[in-house]
Amino acid sequence: MRAMLLRAVTTLDDNADPLKLTELEQPEPGDGEVLVEVSVCGVCHTELDEIEGRTMPKLPVVPGHEIVGRVAQTGSGCRRFAVGDRVGVGWIHTSHGGESENLHPSFRATGRDVNGGYAEYMCVPEKYAYPIPDVFTDEQAAPLLCAGGVGYRSLKLTGLRDGQVLGLTGFGGSGHLVLQLAKHLYPASQVFVFARSRREREFALELGADWSGDTADAPPKPPHAIIDTTPAWKPLLAALECLRPGGRLVINAIRKESGDRELMADISYEKHLWMEKEVKSVANVTHRDIEEFLPIAAAIPLRVEVEAYALEEANRALRDLRAGHVRGAKVLRISSR
Ligand SMILES: [Zn+2]
Repeated sequence: MRAMLLRAVTTLDDNADPLKLTELEQPEPGDGEVLVEVSVCGVCHTELDEIEGRTMPKLPVVPGHEIVGRVAQTGSGCRRFAVGDRVGVGWIHTSHGGESENLHPSFRATGRDVNGGYAEYMCVPEKYAYPIPDVFTDEQAAPLLCAGGVGYRSLKLTGLRDGQVLGLTGFGGSGHLVLQLAKHLYPASQVFVFARSRREREFALELGADWSGDTADAPPKPPHAIIDTTPAWKPLLAALECLRPGGRLVINAIRKESGDRELMADISYEKHLWMEKEVKSVANVTHRDIEEFLPIAAAIPLRVEVEAYALEEANRALRDLRAGHVRGAKVLRISSR
């Protein structure tokens, strides 16, 4: 099978093409696993963290954890799916299955600890594969598996109640889904979006944001909660400063980059933390989060904005993602079936 393989950790500055198109043996599903013929795989910022070693991959590895495809073969003991069923796979590949399975040492990440979806085939335990609602095409569904599922978890972790004000800082693959999700789950809440680029701010208003501004602009009212989906540090300080007393900042990122970390030396207890402000990170996602989220996404139905690349263009997709100013999410088209 064709796969884009990462053999060594590097930086995109040192190696603009870190993934190599490679012919690999088609994997065999083990007990309780399904073999998925991958149709589309989303491109997530976490791939940059794997390639650059901020979260260490088990090398060599096929990245990719926003997978949509069809079951091509079932391993022994499989009950949930039949050959031909359309399924999705997210960042959680395997764990113990309980409520805090995402925080447990047995957590294995798709495309980091085991081969993922930048390939024609991949295997996953059937418990960690999900039926895809009919309203979405393969391309539209792919970003739901990470950007959407983890975004849903972030929204739950804010503890927001309907009518309270939500802020979103960063407006890419995850932000544009969380905005619509928040508007559906909390119809009386206002949502304010903070984003660096004018294009992202306009896109946010188009999708129903009540206000949009630059990262450190003052919103009309202080939010009760803010979700940060950026790889940077400046938005954290700006968000903490504008939260209302007792407000909570939820950081939705697997890793932060180090580019502007020195700004954190300016953190002021009085301005950023006092008045019972809270900071919470999102570690990743459980299978239950994704399972709950997909039917909600279909009921809305979420408008998913994607830009598609061919499998062998994965490096270019990653460079474009790094450059920013993404409208929506990027995906790789793998098979055309
Ligand atoms: Zn992801």
